[in-house]
Amino acid sequence: MATERIVSAQPRDTREEQFNLSLRPETLDAYIGQARLVEKLRIALEAARQRKEPLEHVLLHGPPGLGKTTLANIIATELGTHLSLTSGPALTKPSDLVGTLTRLQPRDVLFIDEIHRLSPVIEEYLYPAIEDFRIDVTVDSGMHARSITLPLQPFTLIGATTRAGLITSAMRSRFGIAHNLEYYQPGELLEILRRNARLLGLEEGGQTSDLERALSLLADRSRGTPRIANRLLRRVRDYAQVRHGGTVNPEVADAALCLEGIDDQGLDELDRRYLRVIAEVYRGGPVGLEAIAATLGEDSGTLEDVVEPFLLQRGMLARTRRGRQLTPHSAKLIGFGDLAERLSGLEDSGAAETGLFDADPDANEHGRSSK
Ligand code: ADP
Repeated sequence: MATERIVSAQPRDTREEQFNLSLRPETLDAYIGQARLVEKLRIALEAARQRKEPLEHVLLHGPPGLGKTTLANIIATELGTHLSLTSGPALTKPSDLVGTLTRLQPRDVLFIDEIHRLSPVIEEYLYPAIEDFRIDVTVDSGMHARSITLPLQPFTLIGATTRAGLITSAMRSRFGIAHNLEYYQPGELLEILRRNARLLGLEEGGQTSDLERALSLLADRSRGTPRIANRLLRRVRDYAQVRHGGTVNPEVADAALCLEGIDDQGLDELDRRYLRVIAEVYRGGPVGLEAIAATLGEDSGTLEDVVEPFLLQRGMLARTRRGRQLTPHSAKLIGFGDLAERLSGLEDSGAAETGLFDADPDANEHGRSSK
């Protein structure tokens, strides 16, 4: 049983995507946060413009909802070119790529989402396209079949992935710029929310400072993720409109989020169930992900992608060689005081030396394993 979650960073439906689209920043100046990446891109874009060359290929990795697609759109806009969008799973055979590649105009941008899911055959096919701007196509069939080489316009490939560890090194080495997107700080999310509240006309009615405090509350509960911030803003706007004549204040925001089951830490029901299972069934861990998934009746990939990154980032979960482990902080949060004390004792008694609190050797930079 997969649980639908308001705090999932995955897009939910087309209506939400349209809503996000209307709030999507269109220029680098309007893109908030990710300062180091934005600076790198500014320089690379300016250099490419001066030399009248396409931008180098860019690999963006990081959890969903952090702005990878948004950046690809911005890059195409800044270059004054077009963006073609596709994804790893959508490309099943080389011929799926031929049309897209041959239609590209000089310096256009091709965005491939979930690039870690490209099949090896497609990956091989892509290499000459991104290195030498040419592809081989087969014409005719049977005994008359022959391969001809088609030249392509110089273009920029932007690859996005949530699983950097799954990209082959051959693929990774073909990107001139590779960058890991970070979770956003509450201050940055507040800035995004302010801008979006303005775009949605939210300041009318209530007191501005009330709205500011409400947005600040949303920023704290958005898991460092703009897509979630936008979704919470939408829920609060609806709630305020129907129950409070459109006035948004902290009490209204809190009530709207409570209705959605989101607590003051930004945790939802699935997060709390996940933590409680480790506490109740596995005495705080360490326990393997598959065992937790089976007990919860959830998919382990979902837990790894949408539940664990936030808990890891907030120090509510530790990944060890022997499995997942609650931290004293999370045990206390979910009301397991005795367990919290036992876990603190373990930490103090040097369990770290035994490997209990060592980082997972398979974890990539988001603390996730590539398995
Ligand atoms: P990803 O491709 O990483 O899953 P998206 O680019 O689709 O994420 O971002 C989801 C939504 O979040 C966007 O539609 C946009 O409205 C918002 N967003 C993302 N990054 C930013 C940012 N830096 N500034 C403002 N809004 C952002």
